[in-house]
This record gives sequence, C-alpha cells and structure tokens, in this order.
Amino acid sequence: MERVIISSSVAHQFPSDAPVVGRYAPSPSGDLHLGNLRTALWAWLEARSSEGKFVMRVEDLDRVKKGAAERQLADLQALGIDWDGEVLYQSTRIAAYQQVVKELTAQGLTYECFCTRKEIQSATSAPHAAPGAYPGTCRNLSEDERSRRRQDRPGAIRLRAQMREFTVVDDIAGEFTSDVDDFVLLRNDGTAAYNLASVLDDRYQGVTQIVRGDDLLSSTPRQAYLANLLGFPAPRYRHVPLALNGKGDRLAKRDGAVTLAEIRDRGVKDAEVLALIAASFPLKNIESDGTARFPSSAAEMLDVYQDSQPSNTPWTVQDEILKGVTIGG
Ligand code: GLU
Repeated sequence: MERVIISSSVAHQFPSDAPVVGRYAPSPSGDLHLGNLRTALWAWLEARSSEGKFVMRVEDLDRVKKGAAERQLADLQALGIDWDGEVLYQSTRIAAYQQVVKELTAQGLTYECFCTRKEIQSATSAPHAAPGAYPGTCRNLSEDERSRRRQDRPGAIRLRAQMREFTVVDDIAGEFTSDVDDFVLLRNDGTAAYNLASVLDDRYQGVTQIVRGDDLLSSTPRQAYLANLLGFPAPRYRHVPLALNGKGDRLAKRDGAVTLAEIRDRGVKDAEVLALIAASFPLKNIESDGTARFPSSAAEMLDVYQDSQPSNTPWTVQDEILKGVTIGG
C-alpha cells in the first residue's frame, strides 16, 4: 500500500480483503486469566479462520514480573494457540522507538512536557475539559521556560497532535470517535509509552488485524492517528468484551481459580478449560444427529468457530466455575 496521508479525521485502515496478520500482545505483569485466554483464543481464531498469520509480542517495557512471560506463552501453547516466527520482546526495540521520536521531533511534531500526574489530573477535571485528555499545558512553552523547567525534572515527550478527534471503524463498536490529544510518546525516564510502542510494533510485525479487550477501545483513535501520521494504515479492529465475574465486575485474580495453573491445581484438564472457553462463543457444533460437539483444543475450535455477528455481550464466568465445582469438580 502507498504511503498514507491524513486528509480527514477518519482513519485509513487496512481493507477487509488485505491478507490477515493477527496478534496477541500480553504484558508480562502476571499470569493470564480466563478472560485473557479467551481474548487470545479469539484473536487466534480470527486470524487462522481466514488462513492468516498470527504473531506474538511480549509488551515488557514496564510492570514485568519475573517468569510471567514464559508462563503466559506456555499457557497459550497448552491451549493449542500457536504463532508464526519468533516472539517479539518490546525491550529489544528501544532504539527503534527512539528513532521515530527523533524523526517526529525533527518535523516539529513533539514537545517536552514537565507536568506532574497531579497537575494533569487537576487540569483535566476542570469544567469543559475532555476527560483524561491532556490540556496542552506545556505545548507552547518558550525555550527559556523549557530550560528552566528541565532543571526541576526531566520532560516527557508528547506528540504535537494536529487533530483533536479521530474516528476508527471497529467490527463490534462500529464507527468510534475519541480524542487524540497530545499523548505521551516517551515517558520522562525515556521509556517508550504503550501507544507509541504498540503502533510501531504492529507495523514492524506486519499486523493488519487487532483483536483485543474493549478496555483499549478508547486509546485506539490515538493509535490509528499515529500510524497514519507516520504514513501507514492502521489495522482493522475488533474490541471484544471482557470477562466478568458473577457479580458483574471485571474478572480478576481475586475471584478464585482464574489462571490455568490454579485451575489445573483443582484437577481440571487443559482440554476442559478450552471447552469451557469455547462454550462462550457461538459455535456451529451441532452434529446431524443433534448432539453437540465441544472442542478440546484450539485446532478443534477452528472447525466449529463461526464468525457471524460478533457480539458485545460480556462473558460472565459463573461462581461455580471460579470455585472449581463445575468443571472437573
Ligand atoms: N499489552 C496490553 C495488555 O496486556 C495489550 C496491548 C494491545 O493489545 O494493544 O493489556
């Protein structure tokens, strides 16, 4: 595809007939839970069901827990999720992130920001401020002011966005518009921020389709804007509903046996976990004699997966399952 040029506030995204390259990009901050495993499986199914590629990336720029990346990858493999090529670790890509920021800076598209978290919070809670959007406090500091502020604390680098809002098309949410704002590219310790690293790595890994949790939908217009600003199309998106516990809250570690290791400790087999997750998808699994077939591996899941009308209904994991009495119990 040719170099993309931003001509309106609607993102250029890969067309639906582009070869599919999907991905999963966990942060190694702990073990994956049932909801994460389901999202990973969904991303894998979407890629593999269209004979696409699937790539893996470990987002290890911060919040790294020792051994978590290895356990996450082993858990995905245990369910039969495979990927093409080597796993990409973001910690190996620091020079690439810095190079892009250097290029944007040379084009006048960045600035240093010295605001503390607290200052931003009080500015964004002012009436009429867009919730969570950076109000541009440091956008027009003079060079003198900047050198003075630099003595107190190193600056973060923000994008000098040329657009206030941007629109993406999502398979489930439809057209989705939100603030772009001058989001952080490099934090004040020099670490690449998630939005920058993720956009650059999706490009580097050739990703054309993102399936991930819908808690990331609100950041997506920013990411698509950055991709287009750098001259490349944004992926196609499917933001999928998160898993909930029986009370309707986002599924969390404290809810019970939620990781593969914890569930195995109760004597439940990986194949049964896969079948449990599979049952949360609409499946074409009814045989001609009327019996239902439940897959016990990702490959078997592919045979019965149907991608009609993805829904935004969350998956509620019942308490009996979290307490270990339903599966295997
Ligand atoms: N690493 C992020 C997470 O685990 C996901 C990033 C993404 O899918 O873009 O929440």
